[in-house]
Amino acid sequence: MSGDLAIRALILGGTTEAVRLAEACAAIPELEIITSLAGRTRAPATPPGAIRIGGFGGADGLERYLRAQAIDRLVDATHPFADRIGHNAEQACRAAGVPRLRLLRPPWQPRPGDRWIEVDSLAEAARRLPQPARVFLSVGRSDLGAFAGLQQWFLVRTIEPAERCLANARWLAERGPFHLEDELALLRAHAIDVVVTKASGGEATYPKLAAARQLGLPVIMVRRPPPPAGPVVDSVAAALAWLAHRPAEPGALAGRST
Ligand code: NAP
Repeated sequence: MSGDLAIRALILGGTTEAVRLAEACAAIPELEIITSLAGRTRAPATPPGAIRIGGFGGADGLERYLRAQAIDRLVDATHPFADRIGHNAEQACRAAGVPRLRLLRPPWQPRPGDRWIEVDSLAEAARRLPQPARVFLSVGRSDLGAFAGLQQWFLVRTIEPAERCLANARWLAERGPFHLEDELALLRAHAIDVVVTKASGGEATYPKLAAARQLGLPVIMVRRPPPPAGPVVDSVAAALAWLAHRPAEPGALAGRST
């Protein structure tokens, strides 16, 4: 639908939450949705509504896009570790006067029996690895550089094939959701001593943590970067309510600050 009453919203995606949000928006005729993907994965989940793929060219490029497309609201539903696009969105929305909301999935919470070692960076995770050790490295393919040159043995799992994997490694290209029994079998089959992951949150990749707990294995958990200043919600329902809410005064939307 298009028209004066429509709210044009840009969802910065690349996550399950972004797809769920676009699906929920499809039931609301007043919402016109464009989902933006970075273009990192070969066969991304395709949400309903319009889709655009590829970077904007920094904060300035995103600001130009917001103006050219007459975007009324932006939901940053990118991954908790997608730091750069989040800050670009904050800057671009501030410059263009477009209200912005961060949809950030809840972080995982430790449970009794968990042996998490929280660190601030992938580099620190690499430094904290015992040696010798057999390591289950469950991070993004662009994160592998932090572990290059180490002597430990790695079982590396990424969504997309990496152009170059680590030297002492077996590599798996698999996309979740994963299941507890499979994760237990994987950790046992490779005699894993320690798990490394980013604190991404979400159900799809949680079973590796449950498996590590059952096997008494330590998990080196890289903390999330702090999100840019501004409103944050942790559920698709809350983001949908924010998107669909029509301000009482005409014109209030464009002038609203984030
Ligand atoms: P990033 O470091 O924050 O962003 C790097 C650049 O990629 C941005 O400056 C932007 O380019 C472009 N970009 C990122 N997300 C975009 C989007 N949704 N639409 C258009 N351009 C986008 O991001 P990243 O960590 O590389 O992640 C890239 C994408 O993968 C994100 O959409 C994220 O949701 C998804 N993802 C990331 C992770 C992770 O662990 N980081 C995990 C799963 C999924 P320009 O400056 O040219 O605009």
